Amino acid sequence: MKRETPTVRLLPAGEEIEVGTIYCLGRNYAAHAREMNAEVPGNTAVGKGEPIIFLKPPTAILREGKPIRYPSLTKSLHHELELVALLGGGPPGAPADVRVLGYGIGLDMTLRDVQERMKAKGLPWAVAKGFDGSAPVSDFVPAESIPDPVHLEMRLSVNGRLRQHGSTGDMIFTVDEIISYLSGIFTLRPGDLIFTGTPSGVGPVVPGDEIVGEISGIGRVSFRVE
Ligand code: MG
Repeated sequence: MKRETPTVRLLPAGEEIEVGTIYCLGRNYAAHAREMNAEVPGNTAVGKGEPIIFLKPPTAILREGKPIRYPSLTKSLHHELELVALLGGGPPGAPADVRVLGYGIGLDMTLRDVQERMKAKGLPWAVAKGFDGSAPVSDFVPAESIPDPVHLEMRLSVNGRLRQHGSTGDMIFTVDEIISYLSGIFTLRPGDLIFTGTPSGVGPVVPGDEIVGEISGIGRVSFRVE
């Protein structure tokens, strides 16, 4: 049994922060919802509708330098490039309990075949989305260095070939809207992460592949699949 405490690193000081709950958005980019042949959560008569939320355990975190181990459960391991928000405590005296402390680059690794089987039966996605190492992340940059998180260019390539190219401006629910929504349901705590959804272009990887994710203003992260 592995007893390491999952942490992420916050730059520039390199502080190690223990990871709490990992909240993830499903179908937060319309083009990705369409490529999954799924209903876009939004455009309803009452506004944007409700976001689709699922969770990963802290043990899903995988730090750069470690490989993504191809799980034996699947024949279809997919990459999903996502902007990730790291939550910290609210400033003293402020009404909000939490704020965004930093932003990072995340990969919402997905067992697509397992997920499709569960979706068809209306069953939970926990195995398809929450397995060990299903949340590779970069180091986090301070939120103050990303004053406008809604206009960041996102690029993911596999073995040097561009697979995903989008903008955080295409999110249906913004980071602030997601936090506001989650706060009404869950007690958000410092160290929690929010994976904000993926643009279109998701696809499979196989052992030997090199995945590089880039988000403007944050940097670049790479992971090898083994
Ligand atoms: Mg995702």
